[in-house]
Amino acid sequence: MALSSTLGFPRIGPARELKNAVEEFWAGKISEEELKAAGRNIRQGNWQLQKELGIDHIPSNDFSFYDHVLDTAFMVGAVPERFLAQSGGTDIRTYFAMARGVAGGAHAMAMTKWFDTNYHYIVPEFFKGQTFRLACTKPVDEFLESKKLGLITRPVVLGPLSLLALGKTSGADPLSLLDNLLATYEELFVRLSDAGAQWVQVDEPLLALDCNGDFCSSLTKAYSRLSRCAPNLKILVASYFNGLDDNLATALHLPVDAVHLDLVRAPQELDDALYLAPENLSLSLGVLDGRNVWRTDMRSALDILRKAEKKLGKERIIVAPSCPLYHVPVDLEQEREIDPHLRQWLSFAKQKVAEIASLSRALNGGEQSEKAAFEASWAAIESRKQSVNTRDENVRRRVASVTQGMAKRASSHAERKSLQQESLRLPLFPTTTIGSFPQTKEVRSVRAAYRAGKITRGEYDFFMRLEIEKSVRLQEEAGMDVLVHGEFERTDMVEYFAEFLRGIAFTKYGWVQSYGSRCVKPPIIFGDVERKGPITVEWTRYAQSLTKKPMKGMLTGPVTILEWSFVRDDQPRKETCLQIALAIRDEVQDLEKEGIRIIQIDEPAFREGMPLRRADWYGYLGWAAKCFRIASSSVRDETQIHTHMCYANFNDIIEAVAALDADVISIESSRSRMELLKAFRDFSYPNDIGPGIYDVHSPAIPSLEDIKELLRKAVKVLSPGQVWVNPDCGLKTRKWEEVIPALQLMVKAAQALRAETQK
Ligand code: GLN
Ligand code: ZN
Repeated sequence: MALSSTLGFPRIGPARELKNAVEEFWAGKISEEELKAAGRNIRQGNWQLQKELGIDHIPSNDFSFYDHVLDTAFMVGAVPERFLAQSGGTDIRTYFAMARGVAGGAHAMAMTKWFDTNYHYIVPEFFKGQTFRLACTKPVDEFLESKKLGLITRPVVLGPLSLLALGKTSGADPLSLLDNLLATYEELFVRLSDAGAQWVQVDEPLLALDCNGDFCSSLTKAYSRLSRCAPNLKILVASYFNGLDDNLATALHLPVDAVHLDLVRAPQELDDALYLAPENLSLSLGVLDGRNVWRTDMRSALDILRKAEKKLGKERIIVAPSCPLYHVPVDLEQEREIDPHLRQWLSFAKQKVAEIASLSRALNGGEQSEKAAFEASWAAIESRKQSVNTRDENVRRRVASVTQGMAKRASSHAERKSLQQESLRLPLFPTTTIGSFPQTKEVRSVRAAYRAGKITRGEYDFFMRLEIEKSVRLQEEAGMDVLVHGEFERTDMVEYFAEFLRGIAFTKYGWVQSYGSRCVKPPIIFGDVERKGPITVEWTRYAQSLTKKPMKGMLTGPVTILEWSFVRDDQPRKETCLQIALAIRDEVQDLEKEGIRIIQIDEPAFREGMPLRRADWYGYLGWAAKCFRIASSSVRDETQIHTHMCYANFNDIIEAVAALDADVISIESSRSRMELLKAFRDFSYPNDIGPGIYDVHSPAIPSLEDIKELLRKAVKVLSPGQVWVNPDCGLKTRKWEEVIPALQLMVKAAQALRAETQK
């Protein structure tokens, strides 16, 4: 018989119970015991649900109070020295301290994006000669917890090679730590086996990346050891988010019992895998999209399984989602308000579990009993294919008629720069901010009241206009050169824009974990996208009317809107991005018509969209940059286009960043002390740059000397006429008490640099 599995279930709980419990614990409102009970409830709910729906291999240890990479580092005793003062590094406070830092003490560990998802993991820290130990037995404990409920679950652990590859190791080759690390994994596997586990799922998503020779050759060695240590424990190695590509043969010949394939991202790999798989290897077939919210075409999925069955037989098949279900919302049933048409096309984690179980039953000969499920799936797939809601002929005609010329400014940056200078008359080292100002409690409550219909549109506008006016006056008083209105009307930079676009829907409870207790609710792009009407024009026009200084129009870019949404899977992503780009282009044109002379199009997710393998970068960067230019290039030479990206690493993408041809780009750089500007210098980046001189993620206000120092560094690398002065990112999470002095200091520092440069 084929088995069914889910690889991992969302850990946030159907109503974000995890967030609530963890935040209450941090605030001292609940005890550690209460926190742990909340965790148990979520786990048990997830197990029960998967059991009821008919899953054979139910995952355990897929739960985490913060992040599973942090869990693994913590489990093997990789607690950095600075957190060890308390408790020998084994209690939950140390665990949270690693993730969040200690106020006035140890700084938090770094956090970074988990592959190409919007989930962020804590980056483990290793050092030369480090030894490991089984410092906690979470996987065993949670296995036993499920066993008490009568379930034999399949514990999930992050594999040793991925753990080392995802961490940073100071002073040594991470692989030099492998031997010692394996001993800890061996101990864990023995304990799992002794506890009664029959399978363990070892995630090695590292296999989805370009093969790093040494890591790949270590895989075989590592798994020979692990497979010997507990002879009764079967090992499934799982990689996802991509095909195995160069790593396919290595993976399939590991001395393990099963290997998982992501057949949604790499359907073409099935044939090779069937051909290469050794006699006694089972394949976990990820036939259903674990990353997106679309309902599965059950017939096609079953066809794939049947094909595999011919070669493998049922016994060697495990039916699975393409990847763990962490990155989709928990339960569609909660969404009562979503358009029923769209609703029947969707499937969230719980629905996906049912789809998997049904597929596996059908494969095992129960096609008759699954008839209803298959028919419903077929009807939904057909309805989506034929729907008039997903296709808009006007949008399609427009996309088809996009010309090269539309993706290009009329003149070169040099020519534009002098025309812009004539019109804007900005000083050397112009000062500006990234867009948002403090989202105070009051701002948030007025927005919420308006949404809930508790105040009228008139009252809402009146309040927002007052906020804008306050912010304009403060910026003028501080002496800023280019002002912003403050983005008080926006909850979220993607959601705000998406609400003005046709073809995009919103959920009420569709949360997915972004990091720790933080969840996001990505919009769902289901159809052709078009702007319903002007989005920001009224607020920006009003803000400009208050001042003679240039007011910057603030927009979210097409790539970022795409990246931070669930995207339709019935056409290439670049098609969808192009449609969004045209919608933003319309907004840019309207702003220009209103007399706005500077328009910023934020693309903080530009880098995030990068495919996992280098070979695919070129294609992505090409269309992504083109979409940005389509959005931005319709304006006159005199209109200045800015963009903003809030990260530091530009080395691999500097060419694409230059290809955006934004007149000014603002970037993160204060934390790296301007290190990152090297990429711009080496490339001779021609346009203007605002290297952030103030770390907005920290409440600390920088000193005047510090800002000047950073600017001097920037001027050494760039030419003075190229440099803008601005913070790292938007100021919405800061307080006005922090923002006002920071703005004043930025202005003073700019003045000082002007004086130094003109000497
Ligand atoms: N304009 C946005 C803001 O200031 C940019 C946010 C971002 O880069 N993530 O909030
Ligand atoms: Zn930013």
